[in-house]
Formats: sequence, C-alpha cells, structure tokens
Amino acid sequence: MFDASCRKDGAKVMFERPGQPPITYAAANDLVLRLATALEELSVRPGDRVAVQVEKSAEAVLLYLACLRTGGLFLPLNTAYTGAEIDYFLDNAEPRLFVCDPGAVDQHAKRASAALAVETLGADGGGTLMQRAAQAVPQPAPVERSPNDPAAILYTSGTTGRSKGAVLTHGNLASNTVALNQAWRFSGSDRLIHALPIFHTHGLFVACNMALSAGATMIFLTRFDVDQIIDEMADATVLMGVPTFYTRLLKSPRLGPLATAGMRLFVSGSAPLPQDVHTGFAERTGHVILERYGMTETCMIASNPHAGERRTGAVGFALPDVDIRITDRETGAALPQGETGAIEVRGPNVFQGYWRMPEKTAAEFREDGFFITGDLGRIDADGYLHIIGRDKDLVISGGYNVYPKEIETALDALPGVAESAVIGVPHPDFGEAVTAIVVPAPGASLDSATLLKALSGELARYKQPKTVLLADALPRNVMGKVQKAELRRHFADLYT
Ligand code: ATP
Ligand code: MG
Repeated sequence: MFDASCRKDGAKVMFERPGQPPITYAAANDLVLRLATALEELSVRPGDRVAVQVEKSAEAVLLYLACLRTGGLFLPLNTAYTGAEIDYFLDNAEPRLFVCDPGAVDQHAKRASAALAVETLGADGGGTLMQRAAQAVPQPAPVERSPNDPAAILYTSGTTGRSKGAVLTHGNLASNTVALNQAWRFSGSDRLIHALPIFHTHGLFVACNMALSAGATMIFLTRFDVDQIIDEMADATVLMGVPTFYTRLLKSPRLGPLATAGMRLFVSGSAPLPQDVHTGFAERTGHVILERYGMTETCMIASNPHAGERRTGAVGFALPDVDIRITDRETGAALPQGETGAIEVRGPNVFQGYWRMPEKTAAEFREDGFFITGDLGRIDADGYLHIIGRDKDLVISGGYNVYPKEIETALDALPGVAESAVIGVPHPDFGEAVTAIVVPAPGASLDSATLLKALSGELARYKQPKTVLLADALPRNVMGKVQKAELRRHFADLYT
C-alpha cells in the first residue's frame, strides 16, 4: 500500500516537521526498510507483537510501517499509561519487543529477557532502535501477508471500562483507507495538518494511512496548539481533529475566512461534535466540518458526504461495502428506519476479535457477522445516521429509557450553558435518577432551579433531571471524550 506512493515521487515530502528537517518519501522508505531488518534481527517474526510506548514522532510512524513489512503486530500504547498499566498490557500482549522512550528505559530495562527485547525511540528520532536501523541493511522484500493476517492490536480508549485490544487485519486497514481516500477525495496534492496522538485509530489509521497511501504530505505537529494550527493552515489543505480542536479554534479571534482560505476540508470525529460548534465554524469560516463515525474495532464506519449536505448532528452514510443496521437493544431484531436502537455493523473494516478474549468477542458478534458497536443511534428519513450515545450511558429511570443526548441537547440550548453531561445515578425509588452536570458559559451565572424550570416545559417529566449540578469543566480524555464513568463514580452516593 505504501510502497506504491514511495516509488511515485521519492523527493516528495512525507513529514514536514516544524523545528526539524523534513523527511521525504525516499528517505522514509529507506528508514522503513532498515527498521524492518532491525526488527528481524531482534527476532520479530510474523505474528509477534511489537509494543510501542513512545512520544509522537515521524520515526514512530515509520516503525509502524516497518512492522507491517515484517508481519509483526504493531501495538501502540497511550503515553499516559504508567507502571501497573504497562504491566497489564505487556503481560496481556506478550510482545517480542517493547520500544519505550529513552527517558523511561531505566524503569523498563528490567523487563528485558530472552523472550522480550527492550529498545528505545525518542521524540527526536534518537534511541537504540534507530541506531540499529542506521547500521542495518535495508530489507530486500516484505514478508508476504494476506488480507486476513493481523497487522495491529489497538487498545480501545477505555471510556466505558478497561481497554480492550482489538486485532485488526491488513485487509481491515487497507479497505478502510481506500474507502476513506475516495470518500474524502484525498490526493498527492493534499497537505494534512496532523496534530492527533498516534496511539489511537484516528491519528494512526485514519490520518497516517490516508495521507501515506495517497502520497500526501503531513505537517506533523507533536501537540495541538491553536495559534500554530492557524499558522499552518496558510499552507495546508486538510485538518483532522477531535471536537475539542474545533471548540478551541472557535475561541481564537484569528479564526476566519482569511485564515482558512487555502483549506479544502475539516474533519471531526472520535466524539460528538456539538451542534453549535458545527454551525459556529461554518458561520465564521464558510467551511462546513465533515463529521464521521468510527471506533477502534471497526475503523471508520460512516461519514457525512464530501459533496452534498453535511448534516449537523449526524455522522452521514455508511462507507462503501459497510453495512449498518439498527436493532432492538434487547432482542436484536432489526428496527424500522427512524427508530432508535443498537448500531450494528458488518464489512471488510470490522476487526477479527478482541485479543485473547474469545468470550467477549463472541458476545459482541451476531451469528450473521454483524458487530454490536455498543452505540445507540437512528437513521433519519434521508438515510443519515445519528449517534444517540452509548448503550452503557442509557439511563433507565422508573422503568423508562432516557437517552442522555436528548436532555443534553435541551440543556445546551439554554442561555448561559456552555455544555452538559447527563448520567444515571443509583436512586432508591427510580433505580437510576437522571442527573445533569452543567458547565456555565464564561461570565454566565446559572442556578439549578432556573435550569430545571426551563426544562420542565420541554421534556416529559420522567426525562427531567432530578438534580442539576454546576461544574467548571467536564472530565475529558486526550481524544476529547467525556468520561461519564468517572462522573458516575464521583456522584454514585448522591441519592443514598
Ligand atoms: P471503550 O470501548 O474502551 O469504552 P471507546 O469506545 O471510547 O472506549 P474508541 O474506540 O476510541 O474507544 O472510540 C469509539 C467510540 O467513540 C464510538 O463507539 C463512539 O461512541 C464514539 N464516537 C466516535 N466518533 C463519534 C462521533 N462522530 N459522534 C459520536 N460519537 C463518536
Ligand atoms: Mg468502545
């Protein structure tokens, strides 16, 4: 997949890196081939796991490509994981090689054994692994792989519980890349601003796979900084972001039609894009953000159209060859269009299973091959998919189903509300009580009673929150996902 673009134009820049020299496709290809040999010399064989916990760098992406060439399974780990968490992942994955940051080597060197090699790779591209690569002979030919062979194990974000390792095949990655490149009209003339982490499906498989297979250039930024992003837009064509990127960009007075004039596409995903951010961004810049939906286990599932209406609050249509259906969350029976239920998906994008969790894998697949995503949604009259929230976040109060998103949308529309999260909290009478956490807009003074009164005319009684709590901010992870499990834990004793 990536060889083709390397051969096309070797002088083309693959990674543009502020403060560091660029890396061309030809130079990247040479490094990948050397890294592949280094991996083989470290006894990485097809099917072996290569666990990687390093700072974001172009070299880390090249290590991923080298892994694909050797048939190893690339297994990136969140840089935030520490001691006991790393123990869990390494015990669980049993990698052949663990690549860590040079600054963490003292802590990890003790893990090295006959079965596990420990090497380093730094944010600047230095470390023992690159030293090995520099001395290695470029690998002459890639190890043969078929579409059903596993390529990577990616851990889910752990929003609803302990992270699960999703085993993704070469076919999963290749088919999704082809589908997305077509859907978003990616080409070699694109210049993608890459400011996402690369241990997650969004930054690694969506952003890098698309750019590399199209032969595009990535403006590779180690973190998200509003001013830097706006500066880079002058010479870029595409930005892929999580909703918080857009929320923060909107706060900058520099964001406007001039700053975004050269851009052709803004993509959002990983968490719901607030409707006022979608409309606010369009008003300020003239660009309608393209929202898409996907998950670690399935790569990308659905996308708003490139040409056609990018509907606010919706994630669009299934990608080519991907089937989506909405089913009754209890019986699994298919539901008529328009009704809310469990989102199930089938296609070449859907993973093989959870790493060493056969029961969990079996429980999440239907007999006809559909995967139960754990998200709830509905398909509107025009065929657009709307995400209603997670099955695990559904609140059942007094026997009634309450979809948090409906209450959050009503709260967010009230004057002075910046954002809100609605959760179910154990309650002696209702089973669960609808409970809202509201963040006031800057300068607004809100009180719970006024908010509750405003909702009483809008929502059926069973949907109205029993309590509205005010907070300075909602807990979010690095991908901008609201951590509702953390909120539920925090407020668990509210009614007891
Ligand atoms: P875990 O599975 O460990 O609880 P997670 O589901 O957050 O964590 P990911 O695979 O990173 O881990 O995230 C996928 C989830 O992100 C989807 O199931 C969905 O709930 C959410 N998501 C992704 N894109 C969107 C979107 N555009 N709108 C709403 N939700 C989205
Ligand atoms: Mg999930």
